[in-house]
Parts: sequence; C-alpha cells; structure tokens
Amino acid sequence: MISRLSPSHELLDPVAEARGFLIDWDGCCALENRLLPSAVRFLKANAPRTVIVSNNSSNTAEDFQRILAKSGVEMRLDQIILAGVEALARAAQSGSSRTLVLSDPRMRFLARRMGVAMTSERPELIVLLRDTRFTYPRLEAVVNAMAGQARLIVSNPDVTHPGRAGHLQPETGALLAAIKACVAIPEDRLEIIGKPNPSLFLKGCSVLGLEPSSVVMIGDNPATDIAGAEAVGMHGLLVTPGPEQFFRTLVQTLKIV
Ligand SMILES: [Mg+2]
Repeated sequence: MISRLSPSHELLDPVAEARGFLIDWDGCCALENRLLPSAVRFLKANAPRTVIVSNNSSNTAEDFQRILAKSGVEMRLDQIILAGVEALARAAQSGSSRTLVLSDPRMRFLARRMGVAMTSERPELIVLLRDTRFTYPRLEAVVNAMAGQARLIVSNPDVTHPGRAGHLQPETGALLAAIKACVAIPEDRLEIIGKPNPSLFLKGCSVLGLEPSSVVMIGDNPATDIAGAEAVGMHGLLVTPGPEQFFRTLVQTLKIV
C-alpha cells in the first residue's frame, strides 16, 4: 500500500515497524550528489539496515561510498545498488562479444574493467546509460543496430531527475525516447534494468536479508520508486513536500537525535 507522509504522522506506522529501508538517491537523500543534512542524520542512525537503490547511471558505488563517508555515513559497497552498474553487469554476463556502450567516459572505463567486450562497429548488444555527450552519430549508430537484430539494455527509464534549485537534468529515458522515435523496438530485444522494474528492489532486500514486506522504500518518484516498491510487496513512502522536510519529520518520528 502506498503511504504518503502526512503532517500528523498518522501514516508512519510502516516506518515504525520497518526492519529495513531502501532509499533512493537523487531528489531524496541528495541533489546533484550533495547529501541533504537531514537525510545524513537518518542515514547515520540507520546505515546498517539501509540500502541505497538508485537509477543513477553516471556514478559507481565507490563514488557514492566516498560521498557518504565525507558526511560520516559508513556503508559497504553492496549497500549501494546503482542501475548503471547493474546494466553493465548484465552486459558482461550476456556473453556478447560486440557491445556498444553509450554512457559518460568513466562508465565505459568501468564497463571495460567489468569485462564488457566493447565495439563501435556492428554491435549486437547496446547498453544505454545516461550519456551527457549523446550525439547525432551515436543516435544513428543505435537506430541502425536496432533496425537490425541488436538487443538493447537500458539502465533506467527516467526522463529527468531533479537538480538543485528546481533545475531539471535530462536522463537516460529521454535518450531512449529519441531512439524509439526513430525505430520500433520489440519487447523481447529490450531490457530496462532500473526502477520500477523489480530487480533492484529485490536485490536490495536480499542484501538486507529481509522479505520485501518488512522493508520500506523511500523515494521521490511515484512512478518508479513507489509503484515499483508496491509491485514487489514493499511499503512505499513518497518524499513530500520536499526531501529536507520529509527527513526532518522522519528523524523526529524515529526519535533520532
Ligand atoms: Mg529520485
């Protein structure tokens, strides 16, 4: 059941009863990779029973671990589950010897380290992450590969994520929309890894060693965080009216000082 935080705290029973938490990153505990102070207080108090579950496809788990550690939050790498890293892992496991990775350069570097066999010629598999250098030639390469028999793995369906001061950051889903505008992609050749699909949620619960029913998902996106959590039997709690105020209320409710 979807719970929304009310000023009277009357919907916070799932939080009080939760044995573990999955937490979104962008627009929830961080804006443009800067942690929010009240989210830090929550994370410090709950780190051992919390897993970060993010559709981010620009960063590695090590990046987030460093950002958290600077604010005094200690989390293991397996407590940070990122759609981009998961998409690259899927490509590495696929056995494809001709994979085109569209992403920022550092994620292509990670792909190579993870054993993804990369090419820019006649790819049979394409991995689409948030690519801030997406160009016409890259679009042309993907569209023509998909017009053939290539398969497509997409890190996340989000079209934007929130930056600071209300600034919108275009996301991987916007690039996918550009590809889909040019060519039809059969469902059996398309895999979208990130939320709302179940895999990140289930992996997070498995890291916590908990059943989804005893875990609360906290996120700012009703379509990906909340609907996705609900679909696997978790409680979803929407960050509202904004992350700072939400976590302040949550910290008070859980009596974290
Ligand atoms: Mg978010």
